[in-house]
Amino acid sequence: MSKTKSKNSFLKNNIIAFLHCKECLEELPEGRSPAEWSAHDVGWTKEGLQVWCRRHEANVLHVDFEGHKHPGATQRLKRKGE
Ligand SMILES: [Zn+2]
Repeated sequence: MSKTKSKNSFLKNNIIAFLHCKECLEELPEGRSPAEWSAHDVGWTKEGLQVWCRRHEANVLHVDFEGHKHPGATQRLKRKGE
């Protein structure tokens, strides 16, 4: 993690652009948002990180880290009351 980023900030939702399966978008039912309709699996691969569409059994994104290691976080922020 970059030393300029606070740990808490890094654990918040920092998404600036969502990933979508092209076929899912084409079949998006009326009244449903792409986020509701998406059926993605996200996971580690031997090469990096992959987003997979379960509905279409299709690759959405596969990032190849080319052997490099990158900082990441699997912790989550506590909810109010925890
Ligand atoms: Zn799809």
